[in-house]
Amino acid sequence: MNAIARAAEAIEKRLAPHLPCGVAAFLWSIRRHIPADVDEVLSQINGLPKESSLRGFAPGLVKRWEVENALIPVYANHDPRALEAMELIEKTVGRDFFRLCSSESEVKDAKRGVIFTKGQAAGDPSKPDMIATGNVSGDPLKGPGWPHDIVDANGVISGVLWVNLDSPTGKLATFEVVVHELGHALGLGDHFHDFCDFKRAAGFGFWPVLTRLYALRPGASYSSDNAYRSVSD
Ligand SMILES: [Zn+2]
Repeated sequence: MNAIARAAEAIEKRLAPHLPCGVAAFLWSIRRHIPADVDEVLSQINGLPKESSLRGFAPGLVKRWEVENALIPVYANHDPRALEAMELIEKTVGRDFFRLCSSESEVKDAKRGVIFTKGQAAGDPSKPDMIATGNVSGDPLKGPGWPHDIVDANGVISGVLWVNLDSPTGKLATFEVVVHELGHALGLGDHFHDFCDFKRAAGFGFWPVLTRLYALRPGASYSSDNAYRSVSD
């Protein structure tokens, strides 16, 4: 490990839990360290999620968009937070994910992609005191949740997803919440440390998990055969 990497590691240990989203992303990108338990985390939150409605699809397998052949069409609704969040994700993970579209119908015509809406992130009706400022939905009028046909048998996410930002009562999504919702849209079903609804929406530990998800191929099984082993550095 060189001096810069050593310094980054020391800063990570002390500061990572306290840094704003963009700074944590930058710090992670210096060393790009993938922790040894990353596949275990992914097997729970992507392979067999318990909480999110992604749980019904391709159990135990890697579920993600097939970005190698065609990027994900996105209508960003002229929202600067959405544009910045996409840029941060591409820069930090180190690959292209998104192709910007100029209208909602362009995404619908492609039959796959993400459409951002504003002021429609209605929360869970059973918890009226908890205000949602962001969610992922197969239909913004029907509330949060993955559409029933979004993942095929090979683990490929392909369909139209809405990422709804800001509550109908005017509570705005922070930038970190926007990154968080894109994390869900990219295949992170359940929450984990550094990817929570409230305290830490997209912290330092969000980045290795998302990066590893897109290093695995869709449909691969989370078994010990292909489990990630971190190389000690
Ligand atoms: Zn969430």
